[in-house]
Amino acid sequence: MKKHNFNPGPSILPQETIDGTIEAVKNFAGTGLSLLEVSHRSKEFEAVMNETVALFKELLGIPEGYAVLFVGGGASSQFFHVPYNLLEKKAAYLVTGTWAKKAYKEAKLFGTVEAVASSEDKNFTYIPKDYVIPADADYFHITTNNTIYGTELLKDIDSPVPLVADMSSDIFSRPVDVSKYGLIYGGAQKNFAPAGVTFVIVREDLLGKVSRPIPTMVDYRTHIKDNSLFNTPPVLPIYSGMLTLRWLKNLGGVPGMERINKAKADLLYKAIDDSKLFVGTVAKEDRSRMNVTFVMAPGFEGLEEEFMALTKTKGMVGLKGHRSVGGFRASLYNALPLESVQVLVDAMKEFEASH
Ligand SMILES: *Cc1c(COP(=O)(O)O)cnc(C)c1O
Repeated sequence: MKKHNFNPGPSILPQETIDGTIEAVKNFAGTGLSLLEVSHRSKEFEAVMNETVALFKELLGIPEGYAVLFVGGGASSQFFHVPYNLLEKKAAYLVTGTWAKKAYKEAKLFGTVEAVASSEDKNFTYIPKDYVIPADADYFHITTNNTIYGTELLKDIDSPVPLVADMSSDIFSRPVDVSKYGLIYGGAQKNFAPAGVTFVIVREDLLGKVSRPIPTMVDYRTHIKDNSLFNTPPVLPIYSGMLTLRWLKNLGGVPGMERINKAKADLLYKAIDDSKLFVGTVAKEDRSRMNVTFVMAPGFEGLEEEFMALTKTKGMVGLKGHRSVGGFRASLYNALPLESVQVLVDAMKEFEASH
């Protein structure tokens, strides 16, 4: 049976990415060798690196003066790479969820860190709006999509200091004005590629300003200088990521993707709002297009298991909510087709009709 993959991460990738990766693992770029057994310094792999960087720049409209890097360690390593490179005296953080909180905690190892606002008082069900970004901060850190709680900042905010964003779970899902950001980073395994590679988009003039010594591998300048080939990069995820970006470009680029993502999210949120059995868990104006969180309505909590079982019989996987929210979470990443959302919505209606 066809599976409908709502996994939160690692998550669904385009079929073209998976098929093309299999092909390259068998025979990479006509070399007669597997992608797994060629030098990362071969001209064939260098072409992959260059195309992936070029697609990042083209699809996100990255202006001059920014570098695109591919490194290891996951988004979680960026939680300390960012302050290592950018925090001299003080940084500001917007605490909107589990990942934001982890980033905030890590930065404290490097200097004064101010949480300008937090939505933890209401279990991260909204994004704080009334806060002041301190003008003396070295940077202001945000998490644009809160994967676990299902809230998202859908607008690029104005910041008087360099804006740093964890975009692990919404990169390429909507157009972003990169010029408003000093640094954008994320793990690959939601909207880009298999786990193992981490992307960093950084405005080069922000670097080299802190007084502490920075270990070579942590220093962004190392990877800028060597085109992310200072050491062996995660070659397979980078290759797969290139295929994902080719796929995305063919679908109309990021604006095309955003139209599809809006249609998917609108369809599911409407079904939730029209239903007596299900309710959303977050403030409506902050709803994420990537991760839709919902629970059984008050009085119907006992039906959760039964609905989960129904989704399984219809081929849906990955709908269990994170333990800190409960209920359900449908992750609607770029590669998830509208058809899968329709299958979920139909199941919700069928369930409601029989209860
Ligand atoms: C998944 C996720 C992370 C963690 O990424 P790793 O690559 O596993 O370290 C961090 N931030 C956000 C917003 C995420 O969704």
